[in-house]
Amino acid sequence: IYTLSVTYYHQGQVSEKVLPATDMDFASQVETALDNQQFFMMYQPQVDFKTGKLKGVEALVRWRHPEKGIISPEKFIRVAELTGLIVPLGKWIMQTACAQAAQWKDHPVLGKIEVSVNVSALQLKSGTLVEEIMQILQDTGLAPERLVIELTESSFVQDDGENARLMHQLKEAGIKLAIDDFGTGYSCLSYLRDIPGDYLKVDRSFVMELPGHNKAEAVIQAIVSLGKSLDYRIIAEGVETQAQADFLKSIGCDIVQGFLYAKPLEADALPQWVSVAQP
Ligand code: C2E
Ligand code: CA
Ligand code: CA
Ligand code: CA
Repeated sequence: IYTLSVTYYHQGQVSEKVLPATDMDFASQVETALDNQQFFMMYQPQVDFKTGKLKGVEALVRWRHPEKGIISPEKFIRVAELTGLIVPLGKWIMQTACAQAAQWKDHPVLGKIEVSVNVSALQLKSGTLVEEIMQILQDTGLAPERLVIELTESSFVQDDGENARLMHQLKEAGIKLAIDDFGTGYSCLSYLRDIPGDYLKVDRSFVMELPGHNKAEAVIQAIVSLGKSLDYRIIAEGVETQAQADFLKSIGCDIVQGFLYAKPLEADALPQWVSVAQP
């Protein structure tokens, strides 16, 4: 049995972890996949509740595996993080999503929307993220105002201040920031004071329980009012039913994303979606 010892960052600290052989084999496949261009992006529409118009798309990575078919990011992001491959993979993701958004520039709707890109906390730790993003914006010609970086709460709790500083740099450049999966896992809220966020994304695990589940309703209501008082716009993710959408709209949620509106789509399918769903 082969094993691989990897150095990785966890909660702000450098740690060592021995990957079991199966993960190691998987890790080398992830590396090959990057070299062989087996990754591709899909884009899921986000709709503004008030206007009904497309507000943006979230870029979501997929792996077209030569034997196993399409593999979900849930299966490979963790290994990419453990091995550090998330840094080159994340750079490819940023490049591809920004290039795509820039390429839509002549489309009357897609030329104006925002593109949200998920960024792993480990990419922040790489130390070159801000420079990398600025370079990508320059190369692709995408306006910084059209880019939203999605980070989960784990990037901000137990932050020594360095991540908050990076967020302020991105903000000064005109880039927007979304806090992803809000309400899951961490209870520390003090970071909300220190970072210049634009969007709060309510996690699907809360939305799933809507409507009718009193506690889930109370949690979402609390998130919306907390977010609003801090000047965040609230995005609900994983909206699958009209009843969920109605409830979310009634409590003042700003933006929705979910299968009720659209599944993640290939870039080529978006103009068609716009012409049907947003005539
Ligand atoms: P996430 O950032 O919370 O992304 C939302 C996930 O919910 C996506 O899954 C999306 O397809 C799914 N989703 C959206 N609407 C619905 C719905 O109505 N019902 C249901 N059941 N699911 C819905 P996906 O694309 O499989 O991504 C899973 C996770 O993998 C993401 O969760 C994110 O944490 C990570 N991920 C995806 N793409 C990237 C990426 O480019 N970079 C990084 N670092 N992580 C990524
Ligand atoms: Ca996300
Ligand atoms: Ca999310
Ligand atoms: Ca989620």
